[in-house]
Amino acid sequence: MPSFELILFDIDGTLIDTGGAGARSWTWAFEHAFDRPGVDIGKYSSAGMTDPVVARKTFTEAIGREPTGEDLARLIAAYLSVLPDYVAASEGYRVLPGVEELLPRLHDAGVLLGVTTGAMEAGAHAKLGRACLNHFFLVGGYGSDSEDRVELTKTAVKRAERLLGRSLDPRQVAVVGDTPLDISAAQDAGVVSVGVATGKYDLDELCAASPDHALSSLTEPFPGIEN
Ligand SMILES: [Mg+2]
Repeated sequence: MPSFELILFDIDGTLIDTGGAGARSWTWAFEHAFDRPGVDIGKYSSAGMTDPVVARKTFTEAIGREPTGEDLARLIAAYLSVLPDYVAASEGYRVLPGVEELLPRLHDAGVLLGVTTGAMEAGAHAKLGRACLNHFFLVGGYGSDSEDRVELTKTAVKRAERLLGRSLDPRQVAVVGDTPLDISAAQDAGVVSVGVATGKYDLDELCAASPDHALSSLTEPFPGIEN
């Protein structure tokens, strides 16, 4: 029996890199929903913040006031309306090293797989869809479930428990992510954290957040299952 029953993966910087398609979609959304061209979300986009938080912080900076709930909904809807096309057209889109080999191996080992991501659910599926990776993930927690990464991580675990019809031992649940925020969310949700240095943060920066395991990339054997 594998040591993990459920493994939840972050998306951006962990499974894939959209090559800037997400940032370009936000820029389009600000221009078309709020007539504000040239808005750059780069400062927030790779730090592991959820989409609603990225949207609120960038809106406040670009427009000069806090967004209302309706503002945020309009902005996010505009973003999601172009994201699939921007992902499809992105020259820099890539699946990160080891992912296409690791996911079927974990599936074959009997591990339930899911996603835990700050992306809105529709955005997550658009990002994974180009590489035909959606089918590996039976459950998920998304930025559309909560803007708080701890809460959306707990949501993903609850959905897995609902699917299995029983509760899971948190020591047999792992979260894999590329930012210190992914690691602290796993810790606060009470599950095992695995940092992977394929995003903006190197191994030393990830290790400063004290993950249970840290990997240079997903080409390495998966801890607790393959070593
Ligand atoms: Mg990430």
